[in-house]
Amino acid sequence: MSAQILDGSAIAEQIRAEVGAEVKLLAEKGKPRPGLATVLVGENPASQSYVRGKRKACAEVGIESFGFELPATASQPEVEELVLKLNADPKVNGILVQLPLPSGMDEESVLSKVSIDKDVDGFHPVNIGRLAQKGREPRFIPCTPSGVMYLIGKVLPNLEGVNAVVLGRSNIVGMPVALLLVRANATVTICHSRTRDLPSVTRQADVLVAAVGKADMVRGDWVKPGAVVIDVGINRVEDASRPRGYRLVGDVAFDEVKEVAGVITPVPGGVGPLTIAMLLRNTLRAAKLSDH
Ligand code: NAP
Repeated sequence: MSAQILDGSAIAEQIRAEVGAEVKLLAEKGKPRPGLATVLVGENPASQSYVRGKRKACAEVGIESFGFELPATASQPEVEELVLKLNADPKVNGILVQLPLPSGMDEESVLSKVSIDKDVDGFHPVNIGRLAQKGREPRFIPCTPSGVMYLIGKVLPNLEGVNAVVLGRSNIVGMPVALLLVRANATVTICHSRTRDLPSVTRQADVLVAAVGKADMVRGDWVKPGAVVIDVGINRVEDASRPRGYRLVGDVAFDEVKEVAGVITPVPGGVGPLTIAMLLRNTLRAAKLSDH
């Protein structure tokens, strides 16, 4: 039997509507509109398109967005000064520094300058540190990992004792997803490029999260029957039949895996829309926290 396909676009739409309704309520109470500042350094086309998408989504729910674009030649102090200026700006509730930064720039140093109260991307070292520690609460949870957990929660509200396997250990997806799964009491295995015999590990997973960046890597026989499979990957593959000459696929061979898994997310239309929805949610939260 074919897997249930989790419609990330519809789920994200619902979250955006909820955020929109809350923003409206704030306005009715005479509160200022929440504000998000986006900082884009360099001319990476994918990053430009992500930032455009985030600003458009803000506009749709009534969040004000302030875009800052610096050339790839901008110096580390210039970028950090901008972040410090935004920290001090009361109209800005959230600051998003679009990653990756141009090579040679010290990403950790830039991210550590973002005020923890405005760290809506959740990548400040203190937020990540709290995520990794028992009994500590991060102020903000990174958006894509938060979206992954939201999707899993839709089909498996209780992860206690569940075997979860995360493919990938990046700072922005794999590792925070693994930490969140541990916090939800799953038993977690983290796989990466040095893991031996991946299929034998992934076949143990009740929940499998793929965040690798390799088109169609996870095959049907890598998956335990009935598993929940969350595909974070976004990969371009050449496709002459498409106007742009390519199409987007995930890290999971969708057509094969959907015949084995119990639940699966599509690409596009799975995790991607949740990432932006969670950013809006975090920005709203930042605005509410700043009001106390
Ligand atoms: P990344 O920083 O390149 O990390 C990839 C991870 O996969 C690394 O931990 C790497 O292992 C591991 N890996 C690479 N090749 C492998 C292999 N053959 N077998 C097992 N593990 C392997 O990528 P990322 O930023 O986490 O992104 C992962 C994917 O998610 C990409 O396709 C990206 O476009 C997508 N993404 C989507 C969203 C969204 O909103 N949906 C957001 C962010 C990213 P090592 O650590 O050993 O190198």
